[in-house]
Amino acid sequence: MTTPKPPEAPCWRGKDVATPFVPGIPAEVPRFRSAKQLFSTMQCCTRCELALGRTQVVLGTGSVTASLMFVGEAPGEKEDAAGRPFVGNAGRLLDRLLEEVGIGRSDVFITNIVACRPPRNRTPKVKEVKAHAPWLDEQLRLVKPEVVVTLGRVALTYFVPKAKVGESRGKSRRLERNGQPFVLLPTFHPAAVLRDYEVLYPTILSDFKKIARLLK
Ligand code: URA
Repeated sequence: MTTPKPPEAPCWRGKDVATPFVPGIPAEVPRFRSAKQLFSTMQCCTRCELALGRTQVVLGTGSVTASLMFVGEAPGEKEDAAGRPFVGNAGRLLDRLLEEVGIGRSDVFITNIVACRPPRNRTPKVKEVKAHAPWLDEQLRLVKPEVVVTLGRVALTYFVPKAKVGESRGKSRRLERNGQPFVLLPTFHPAAVLRDYEVLYPTILSDFKKIARLLK
């Protein structure tokens, strides 16, 4: 006979739930044994004010054993509704680039600096990035990618404060975060490429070709 699972504790998941909002949970992010455990705790996070306006936490997706991790900025409207990162226009461009260089989306891990949609898609505030940092660091620790590709300024400056995308893009460098080594390769945010497609697409494509070579 199998023992029935205890019901999941109710928690604040997003603006359409009846559960009361209790700020500051969890105060400390522990180390998790698996991505599954990490994600189930992340879904109840109220560590910053972004939790108030979200529909749901947008968890990282893809392979949790991937050697390549993409880090974007923050979920937008489509991602907030779907609960998955990069499913809107920027996501379609990311899919196209991956396909161009022969990398399967399900073979990589895709996440964001903050996991909750900022109001009107504004840039996340420093205190919000700080509140989400332990979640991202746990994803890094559990997935252990060999290569991390940052998409845009917010993701790049999380790893290299004050760095400029224009100067850093396409150049790989060895980095460590919390003692964990990986190769960082910054590139443009796909949304920036969509705003200036003719000029920036060839450049981001050349960065993606470099990513594919790094993985060989
Ligand atoms: N832009 C991001 O930075 N992340 C997403 O998930 C979608 C768009």
